[in-house]
This record gives sequence, C-alpha cells and structure tokens, in this order.
Amino acid sequence: MIPISKPLIEEEEIDLVNKVLKSGHIVQGPMVEELEKDFEKLSNTKYAIALNSGTAALHTALYAIGIKPGDEVITTPFTFIATANSVLMAHANPVFVDIDEATFNINPDRIEEAITPKTKAIITVDLYGQPASYDRIMEIAKKHHLIVIDDAAQSVGATYHNKKIGEIADISCFSLYATKNLMSGEGGMITTNKHKFADRARLFRHHGQNQEKRYYYFDIGYNYRMTDLHAAIAAAQMQKLSDLTRKRIEIATRYNKELQNIQGIVTPYIMPRIKHVFHQYTLRITSKYKMNRDELQQHLLEKGIQTNIYYPIPLYKFEHLKQGKRSEMPITEQICQEVLSIPVHPNLKDEDIEYIINTIKQV
Ligand SMILES: *Cc1c(COP(=O)(O)O)cnc(C)c1O
Repeated sequence: MIPISKPLIEEEEIDLVNKVLKSGHIVQGPMVEELEKDFEKLSNTKYAIALNSGTAALHTALYAIGIKPGDEVITTPFTFIATANSVLMAHANPVFVDIDEATFNINPDRIEEAITPKTKAIITVDLYGQPASYDRIMEIAKKHHLIVIDDAAQSVGATYHNKKIGEIADISCFSLYATKNLMSGEGGMITTNKHKFADRARLFRHHGQNQEKRYYYFDIGYNYRMTDLHAAIAAAQMQKLSDLTRKRIEIATRYNKELQNIQGIVTPYIMPRIKHVFHQYTLRITSKYKMNRDELQQHLLEKGIQTNIYYPIPLYKFEHLKQGKRSEMPITEQICQEVLSIPVHPNLKDEDIEYIINTIKQV
C-alpha cells in the first residue's frame, strides 16, 4: 500500500532527540529556542513562539490579538475543524465565507458582505499549501480595521509575491503535526512582527505568568508549552525543508503534466507569483469523469494506493458551527463532493509516482 502520508524520520531527527534526552533539559529549553529562531528566519519575522499544537497556536493567536467573547471571526468552511473550533475556544463566533473554485481558498469577493460591527478578524487558510489571496484580503482588512490570522498549518515554506508565509498576515500559525510538511509529532508555532502579540502569546502558553516574576499571573493561560524533544525533531527537519519542499513540488509538477488531459479530472490550479508547497496534491473528480469520486477512491485503494478526502463535509454542517452559515455556499458544497488527494509526500519513490499516474490513466 502506498500511504497518503508518511512522516520522515531519519538519523538526524533521532540523533538530535537523543542529544536533548541526554542534556536533561526537556521542556521550554534551548532546543525550543533554537526552533523559534529557525522559524523567525524562515518567515522573515521578528518573533516566533513555539506551542504544543497548531490548534494551541490558533487559540493563542486569537488571545494575542485580543478577541473577546461575542466577537465574530470570518473564515473558510473548507478546512480542518481546528480553524473554526479555535474561534469557539476563544468564546467568539466563526462566520463562514464561500471558497474560490480554482484555489479552494476563501473567496475575497465574498468577505465584505460577511462583515458586521462585531467582526474583529479574518482567519485565512493556505489550503493544501497554496497561500490565500493576500493582496485583496489585507486590503479589505485594512479598510475595515480587522486583524488577519493566517492558519499556515499546511503552508510552511510557501511564498506569496516575494513574501514568506508567516510575515504576511498580522499573526501566523503553523502546525508541526506528524503529517505536515515540517513535523515534530505534535507541535505548533506562531510568527508575528508585532511585539505586543508576541508578548501576549508567550503569557498565554504558560498560564498567563509574568515573564519576569515567577508565580505572578496576569490573566488566564494554558499549558501550551512545547517540549525540547519535539522541538529537536522539527529542528532536524528544518535543515532539509527546502529539499523536502522541492521534492513535493517536483512530484506535483509531474502529476499536473500527466493528469491534466484526462476528461473530467481537474488538476490543481497554481496562482501566479506564489510558491505552492503541496502539503496535499488534490484532484477534482467532476461529473464529466467516468466514475464518481468515491468510486475512484475505492478503485485506487484496491490497487494499493491510499487517498484521502480533505474535506468531505463543510464545517457549517456540524451542529456546533451551524450558526456560522449566513449565506449559501454553493462552491464549498460542490468541492466537498469532488476533491480527492493523492500521495505527494517526499518519501514516495519514483516507481510509486509512476504507478499512481499509470493506475489513474488506465481507469
Ligand atoms: C493540521 C491543521 C490544524 C491543526 O493543527 P494541529 O497541530 O493538529 O493542532 C489547523 N488548521 C489546519 C488547516 C490544519 O491542517
């Protein structure tokens, strides 16, 4: 079976974890600091704050920017559940906006109609590794005095018009979960250029404790600290990130070339002047194709190719999020029925890629 994802664990990761174990400094120590420095460099930002998951990063970012109970946060319904749940964790209300058919990211043309006096922020998602339409989104945010949080869980290393993901939004959140492009098992990271946001994020990850004065607490906080063991895995991967990303892009480019002329299959659209880092390589299996999406998925499974559907259900269909739907979302509805992600991770061998291409072509 060719798996849809496979975490890359090599000698470097194992050696660095061993080094941390032997050092005795296991939590919020020098390795976490080193990883934060790595992210500041990668994202070209002044501050990076390590957390113990991408979800923790989103929750912390919402606290850092000052989201209050009852505030509204605009986001996409076509994403992983954590994007919207984090808004509820901050006692605010997610409001969904339909996506763009070509990029699968939030449609900037639909954002302004969703803004109300309660709207305080927009959470963009760089779905599958392709940055959202930041030129438009930052302009809308500026006009309406909104703060932009980038859920960059899937886009580490991506760029948008010569800017790095992590430096574009006011505050950006990465996930280092096992299947992500850069991983630590579980982990998260915030990057920002705003000193105040960084300060508040550091408080929040450690019970709201005053950083100068131990056992003095400014506010509620959580235990969102990263361990140095996890940081070591990601720090080792950081050395190889550009190679790993290049490999993903190469595989995606090959798929695009080989699969683009199949009737009824739509290969991923890549916006101009961006770097798409292909966390997922996602096809649309439209009604013009000879079988439906689920049948193709079953067929590939029988041939030993694992695929996955990111994401089968719009988030507003879930009971706890349904108040976030205030208009029709025809594109999200349609795309949920059509997407199928095929393996694109750097662990794929040449013959795996060829086998996947030929299997799809031979249907
Ligand atoms: C993975 C992911 C998250 C959550 O990250 P965790 O580290 O699993 O908590 C949030 N948003 C998106 C878009 C993701 O893909």
